[in-house]
Amino acid sequence: MSHWRRIWRIAVVLLIITAAGAAGFHISQTLAYQQQLARSQVQLRVFGQTIASELARYDYVPHVLTLDSKINQLLDNPDQAAVVQAANLYLSALNERTATRAIYILDKTGKVLATSNWQRPDSYLGEDLSYRPYFRAAIQGQTGRFYGVGTTRSEPGYYLSAPLGNRRSPSGVAVVKVGLEPLEANWQGLDGGVLLVDENGVVILASQPRWRLQTVFPLAPAKRAALDRSLQYNRAPLPSMGIEQQKAIADDAELVRIRKGSLLLSQNMPLAGTAWRLYLLSSTQALQMGALKTATLASGGSALLALLGVVWNARRRINAERQKARIALEAANAELERKVIERTADLSAANLQLQAEVTERIRTEATLRRAQDELLQAGKLAVIGQMSTGIAHELNQPLAALRTLSGNTVRFLARGDLATAQSNLQTIIQLVERMGKISGALKSFARKSSNRMVPVELNAALENALFLLETRIHSAGVVIERDMPAQAWVKAEATRLEQVLVNLLANALDAVATVTNPHIRVVGQLEQGEVSVSICDNGPGLTAEAEARLFEPFFTTKPVGEGLGLGLTLSIGILDEFGGRLSGYHQPQGGACFTMVLPQTTKEMLG
Ligand code: ADP
Repeated sequence: MSHWRRIWRIAVVLLIITAAGAAGFHISQTLAYQQQLARSQVQLRVFGQTIASELARYDYVPHVLTLDSKINQLLDNPDQAAVVQAANLYLSALNERTATRAIYILDKTGKVLATSNWQRPDSYLGEDLSYRPYFRAAIQGQTGRFYGVGTTRSEPGYYLSAPLGNRRSPSGVAVVKVGLEPLEANWQGLDGGVLLVDENGVVILASQPRWRLQTVFPLAPAKRAALDRSLQYNRAPLPSMGIEQQKAIADDAELVRIRKGSLLLSQNMPLAGTAWRLYLLSSTQALQMGALKTATLASGGSALLALLGVVWNARRRINAERQKARIALEAANAELERKVIERTADLSAANLQLQAEVTERIRTEATLRRAQDELLQAGKLAVIGQMSTGIAHELNQPLAALRTLSGNTVRFLARGDLATAQSNLQTIIQLVERMGKISGALKSFARKSSNRMVPVELNAALENALFLLETRIHSAGVVIERDMPAQAWVKAEATRLEQVLVNLLANALDAVATVTNPHIRVVGQLEQGEVSVSICDNGPGLTAEAEARLFEPFFTTKPVGEGLGLGLTLSIGILDEFGGRLSGYHQPQGGACFTMVLPQTTKEMLG
């Protein structure tokens, strides 16, 4: 896979994970908001009903006063101290009973005639409260409901007022001031907040005291001036709570922050029977956490899925590759088997052929060996043939001498010259011995080889060879120079070694036949475990062609009937069998030189 493709895939997977997280967050958040909204709606209704019923509890109080005779007397005789006092006492008793802040009676001009707090130094007694909206509403025959902050003690409260006497033209007004703070006690422990906001947007009750007498929206300057003038809140500063709207969620629900605080879900509803609204602020922290958890789960889940996808994909790829490799392996195997079968067949054929060839070679070798033996024999016989003239001469001479000597001896015996006869007989014996020696040498030379190798002393072998050629040497007047080490033992077969020497000497004799002052040098040397014998002559030497073809069978430069061209071939073959070698070369000063080399051995060595 290419680098970019991999990066692209990773990016897609990351995108999916992020998208899953975002979607999880969004869905979870939306659902949580809906649930929260439903919960808050219920809570708002409950709080609203609590407030409404709390307010309703005091509704009857001003009306009760309309019916009371003491109050009616007061309105009729406001200047009688006893009447006023009786009213005061009654009002304070009633105030205590109803657990209200204050109950007081105003005349139709708005002046306080009697009050439950008559004995306190800051009592309302005699105060003019005609500017109060609750007075104005009541004097017009209506029930007044009004939240305000007292001017005397700066004490906030809920004012309820009702006309006294005739509704059309009331003779006075009864007012009850109620402290609503106990309601707030219900709101403690909420992790958001609850606000009761009056028609001016001023918080009159709050789950947190610091919000009280703050506004949910900043007040317009004109409105603020009007409120200051009315003394409704006794010139309280009425700062803004600092609510910032973040996002509308539903018709009456929105996300807000208070002074950059945490996000709150704000809902409100009108409070029945009043111009007030009840606000519920719920913390969204748990909700956000839940959404975040869902987002994490969604991301984790999709990451897991992606991982599974990757693993599955990798497995699939590995399996495919394995399958491919297996198929390739099977194919290779089949091919190999086919080749093996093919090769085996080839090899079997080659083997058969080889066996046939080996058999053939063995047969050829046997034939060759036989031919070689025969050739050897032929070579010997040829040499003997060559020598026959010499041998005949050699034998004829003693024979003639024998005939003469034996004739003479007969005559000397007849004369009685025994001494001469004895001397003659002695000579005869010597002659016969010499003849026996000649025939013995010939016999041993002509004998077929025995193939038995023994330590042979080279000087002795050379002696025998020279003896066989003695007649030729003498008749041609060839000088033989010998320079041989005293003892030079080689492992060989005596007669065959002699034959090699005879061949080399005979060739040398042939070569010097035409030269004046013919010379043959036989030089032996012991060197590095080897014995070399060089037979050099002062004949015409070797032509380049002869030097190259010396050891070729039937190569000869001699006239027909004189040379067979086998001598050197046989000689090199024999020396080879003895573990030796033979070489021939033309000497710079003229003449040819043939050197045979054989491994040296000792006399004791038994082959
Ligand atoms: P052959 O003696 O029957 O010719 P050889 O194998 O002994 O066969 O010799 C081969 C040839 O090598 C000879 O014909 C001759 O030409 C050459 N040759 C051998 N020895 C000598 C030598 N000492 N001097 C010159 N030529 C030689």
